Amino acid sequence: MVNREKVEEAVRLLLEGIGEDVEREGLRETPERVARMYEELFAGMGACAGEHLSKTFEAAKSGMVIERDIPFYSVCEHHMLPFYGKIHIAYLPEGKVVGISKLARTVEVFARRLQIQERLTGQIADAIMESLHPAGVLVMAQAEHMCMTMRGIKKPGSQTVTLAVRGDFEKNEKLQNQFFQMMQTE
Ligand code: ZN
Repeated sequence: MVNREKVEEAVRLLLEGIGEDVEREGLRETPERVARMYEELFAGMGACAGEHLSKTFEAAKSGMVIERDIPFYSVCEHHMLPFYGKIHIAYLPEGKVVGISKLARTVEVFARRLQIQERLTGQIADAIMESLHPAGVLVMAQAEHMCMTMRGIKKPGSQTVTLAVRGDFEKNEKLQNQFFQMMQTE
């Protein structure tokens, strides 16, 4: 849970630290605004992915299921700047499937906290393994990091890609190739 008072105090100090006048009109309500916004941006800290993934449907053993292009927004823990993009999830159901909205909610649970992209990808994969017990999961994230594009190397549009594989996807390269092939079809 976000402690609003602490965040407000910290934002005031931060503004002073960069040489701003915290009493000028445009900034007067900024600490409070940021604190309220943080409640939303970091709402995933108190959330549980298992809740969303517990509503499953029975399905006969089928082939690979892919949900692609799930949008996400997260905040990098090294610079506290946003990174955002798309997540693709593939899994091999063993009798249980979930709706796409539940996968999107699972992404939110882990995106709405201070993160690094590698951990985000892995946590989503682990949550799906634990709740659905599929034969395998693959999670791929493509993201733009503001801490890279706003400063430093400054390459707008450059993407960081991370991949987490579990179960059969780990052992069977053919399955990974099948995923990449299916990703290429429109
Ligand atoms: Zn960063």
